[in-house]
Amino acid sequence: MPKILILDIYRETPYRISKDTSGGYGTGNDFGEGLIPYLLKKRLKYLSDWPPLFAAYTHSILKENYETVDFKKINNFKEIEDEIENYDYFVIVSSIVCCETELSLIKELFKRKKKCVAIGPFSTNKPELYLNSGASVIIGEPEAFFSKEKISDISLSPKKISVNSQIDINSLPFPKWNILLNLGKIKLYGNYKTVPILGTRGCPYSCFRYCVYPLQQGRVVRQRTPSNIFKEIEYWHKTFGVELFIFRDPVFSINKKHTKELCDIIISSNIKIKFVIETHLRLLDEDLLNNLKNAGLVFVKVGIENADEDILYNEKRFSVKKDEQLNKILLLKKKKIGISAMYILGFPTDNEDSIKRTISYAIKLNTEFAQFSIWTPYPGTPVFNDFKNSITVKTYEGFDQYRLTFKHKNLTYDQLRNFLSLAYNNYYLRVSWMINYVFKKN
Ligand code: SF4
Repeated sequence: MPKILILDIYRETPYRISKDTSGGYGTGNDFGEGLIPYLLKKRLKYLSDWPPLFAAYTHSILKENYETVDFKKINNFKEIEDEIENYDYFVIVSSIVCCETELSLIKELFKRKKKCVAIGPFSTNKPELYLNSGASVIIGEPEAFFSKEKISDISLSPKKISVNSQIDINSLPFPKWNILLNLGKIKLYGNYKTVPILGTRGCPYSCFRYCVYPLQQGRVVRQRTPSNIFKEIEYWHKTFGVELFIFRDPVFSINKKHTKELCDIIISSNIKIKFVIETHLRLLDEDLLNNLKNAGLVFVKVGIENADEDILYNEKRFSVKKDEQLNKILLLKKKKIGISAMYILGFPTDNEDSIKRTISYAIKLNTEFAQFSIWTPYPGTPVFNDFKNSITVKTYEGFDQYRLTFKHKNLTYDQLRNFLSLAYNNYYLRVSWMINYVFKKN
């Protein structure tokens, strides 16, 4: 029986790297300089870690078919050097944010004649990097490949393996978080036992030009049935005492009927859980929010992106008008649902003034969390073609969503890093933020 080791490889950094964010390309949360970025980097690094969902599902599918399937999170080859003879196949969890570190480890395995295969959206979009280093590459969803094919299809000669269909996400076995995670460690949203969970895949919105999610998951939404999602919630809650679920859908609640059905099942079960979603403000109304709140919604992540409607229009960002945005934020606050608002600095048409306006707008909205990152033309996305001749970053790992990666017409690298630091420091070092979210809460 083949023995398999899944390798989730990270470069060493003083800040958190998540391979599950940005559609599975990953991000490196280097929030800038100063007191607040320093504290946030420290907090996230130790309190919020999980492998990307595609890797967790690949692990659970392989576990159903093979006796020895191990999963290791490592920083370098030395950590596994003594045990590589114990395994026949190595599955590499690819990402842009740790790309060069992954490639150097693949080269070490290839030198020792080990069979490797890279999985994930980044190696799907840049297969030549992984092929040239000595790994085969699954082009498409690894879950679809491993649920039908055998690992013995992977040979020592690197090749592209195309998967022509998408997985039926209702057929996925639950991720084995009890093996992959310290269940008490994810404390992003309070001191609860937490696991990530999947409800839907895919996003149809127009910002697909620069966003990785539709690239990876498609523009057609696939849904797990509400009863299938609930079965997983019930399993984790009853078996492991999990109290909080972080939905990793790019746009939760995209189908109102589906969302209400899920809420109704949770409410009628009398199971008391909490959950966090990422969605679009346009999709939230009072009726749906009441339902979500009763089912256990405690936190919503929403993309505000930029204060300037023209800039969002230029980038074909699927958005809502500012007054509607403000009303929805007020509604969420009224319902006592926490809000994490996401902002992007350095859109191609941004300038110093528009960035200052975005930071002021964030302060005006005064949500519990604000996340600022830097606009990035990711390789593989449609917008990359417009910027491919002006890329300034020297490594793929530099595409971490927290630094400028191309020659911007109005802003320099240092200006944007300074604005990033300023945004975090100005946002969180405010009396009204502290009164609302530190003192009132405690
Ligand atoms: S709404 Fe836009 S930014 Fe959000 S996942 Fe969909 S395409 Fe990406």
